[in-house]
Amino acid sequence: MKIAIYPGTFDPITNGHIDIIRRAALIFDKVIVAVATNPQKKPLFSVAERMDMIKQVIKDTPHIEVDKIDGLLVDYAIEKKAHAVIRGLRAVSDFEYELQMAQVNRKLCEELITVFMMPHENYSYLNSSVVKEIAMFGGNIRCFVPDYVLAKIKEKMNGKH
Ligand code: ADP
Repeated sequence: MKIAIYPGTFDPITNGHIDIIRRAALIFDKVIVAVATNPQKKPLFSVAERMDMIKQVIKDTPHIEVDKIDGLLVDYAIEKKAHAVIRGLRAVSDFEYELQMAQVNRKLCEELITVFMMPHENYSYLNSSVVKEIAMFGGNIRCFVPDYVLAKIKEKMNGKH
């Protein structure tokens, strides 16, 4: 059974992330979407809220699990007996950081393979920060996130005012 981990902040999950999850699910027997705790990023949503949104929006895609990562990605991958780490590559601008992470992770665990996947071009400019910024100024984010996530962002934004 080939297992892949798709780690990220997912603050919140967007249609771009979902595109990658669906592609990964076609290749691997199990994909674990793992929410990084990463407090440096000062996320808008708690880990529990981010996990809940992911679970809701991928519930129709088979072979997906949702979890969180507290420590090092390689330790988590070893614990889960994973073969690969999935990362999305949108543009050349992603490449340098992703290459560095992949090389560091390989240094820490030679057997763990990083697999890069490109989303559909419709999502190549999309990230969670853009979605939050547009929402903050009252813009329409309906085409960037599923309805469930849209509702949660609205709730969060209303609570902040
Ligand atoms: P991180 O903080 O780990 O970069 P993100 O939630 O921002 O967490 O992203 C997780 C992964 O998903 C990264 O590999 C990122 O490149 C990828 N990703 C983010 N947005 C998109 C998108 N629109 N299309 C494809 N991949 C994406």
